[in-house]
Amino acid sequence: MTPPGPTPDNFSPDGRRPSAPMPKTPNPETTSPAATPTPLDPIFSDSRRVSKFLAKGDPLDILAREIGPRFADYRRRWDLAKSFQEIPPFPLHVDYELKSLCNLRCPMCPMATRQGPPDPQTLSLSQTKALIDEGAENGQASMGFGGLWEPLTSKDLPELIAHGRRKGLLEAMFNTNGLLLDAKTSQALIEAGLTRLMVSLDAATPETYAQMRPGSDFRQVEENIMAFLAARRKAKSTLPLLRLSFCLTKLNQPELPAFLERWHNKADFFSLQSYGRFDDSAPALFPEARGPAGPSDRTVPVAPPSGRCAQPFKRLMVRHDLTVLPCCDLSGLTLTLGRADQGLSQIWQSLSLAALRQKLKDSPFDDLPEACQKCQRKFQPPNLPHSQIPPAIA
Ligand code: SF4
Repeated sequence: MTPPGPTPDNFSPDGRRPSAPMPKTPNPETTSPAATPTPLDPIFSDSRRVSKFLAKGDPLDILAREIGPRFADYRRRWDLAKSFQEIPPFPLHVDYELKSLCNLRCPMCPMATRQGPPDPQTLSLSQTKALIDEGAENGQASMGFGGLWEPLTSKDLPELIAHGRRKGLLEAMFNTNGLLLDAKTSQALIEAGLTRLMVSLDAATPETYAQMRPGSDFRQVEENIMAFLAARRKAKSTLPLLRLSFCLTKLNQPELPAFLERWHNKADFFSLQSYGRFDDSAPALFPEARGPAGPSDRTVPVAPPSGRCAQPFKRLMVRHDLTVLPCCDLSGLTLTLGRADQGLSQIWQSLSLAALRQKLKDSPFDDLPEACQKCQRKFQPPNLPHSQIPPAIA
C-alpha cells in the first residue's frame, strides 16, 4: 500500500534508471522556453507518483554487483512483466503486511483517521514463513514488508528476512518512518540480509518535520539513520542500500535543497513522492499543504492518466488478515483476490486476476475498475524546479 508516508508505494522494487533520462514534465511555473538541459538528469521517474534520483550510482547496478548473476535475470523478468510482455509463473515480489499498526499518525496517511484499537488479526511468524517458502519454491525473487503499517513495530522482521534470504530470495526491503530504527535493530537487519531500507524523512528542520510527522522525533530519526550507517560500515557491507524519501508538499518543498545537501553523501538514493489524499470523500487531512497549482495537490492531475498499470503482472500484497491484493496501492484495497491460505499460486493464476491484467493492459481508461481509475487520477508526478537540486547532487 502506498500513500506517501510511513507506508510503501513509495516502496517498490522498481527503479532502473532508463538508459536515456526520462523526459521531465515541464513545470509552467519554472520552465522558460529558453531553458537548456541542466544537471537534473540524474533524476528519473519510474511511476507517475514517485521520482527517484541517485546519490551514489544506480541502485540496481549496485545490487547486481552485490547479489550476483541471478539478480540480473530477476530484473530481466521484472522488466518483461512491467512491459506486459511476460507474466511470470509466480509473483516476482510479494509484500507481507504483518499487522495493521503504526506508531505514528502522519496527516498524509489513512492511518491518521484510524479510530479504535488496531485490528487484532496479524500475519504470524509461521504463516509468513510458509508464504515465503511457497514463494521461494516458485521463483519469487523479492520480499517486502509493505502495507498500511510500520514494519519496525514487528520484532519478527530480522528472522523473516533471514529466512527468506536463506531460502534463496534475492531481495528484502521495507519502508519505515525510522523512529524505531535503533542501533541494535539496524545491526540485526543488516545481519539478516536486508537489501534496501527506505526511510521517510520529509523535512530538513525539526519544525517542519513535526508537522509532517507529528509524534515523531526528528533528532532521534536522524540519529537512527546515522547509527544504521555506522552499523553498515562496521559490518563492511554495501547493503542494505539506504533510500531517503521526501513526500513533497507546499509545506516542506522549501526545505528540499537543505534536505538533499544534508544527506546526499550519506544516502544511496532518494525518492521524491507526490502527496495526495487517499480518499477524496474524506476530510482534507492536510489542507495547509495543498494548493491549486502546486505539486502537493493530488486531486488535480497534470497529465492524463495512462490507464496502464503493470503491478498485477509482477507482484502481490498479503495483508495482516490474509486477504491478497494485486498491488501495493491503497486504492487497490477493494481489489481483493482471495485469501493467502488458499495459496498464492492459485491466486496468481486465477481468472479474476487474469481479467484485471487484461483490463489494465488493453481496456480504455473508462473501463478500468473504479479503484484503478481513482488510483491513477489521484497522483501527479513530483515536478521539481531544476533550481532546487543542489550542484552537489547533480
Ligand atoms: S491501477 Fe489498480 S492495480 Fe494498479 S496500483 Fe492502482 S489500484 Fe492497484
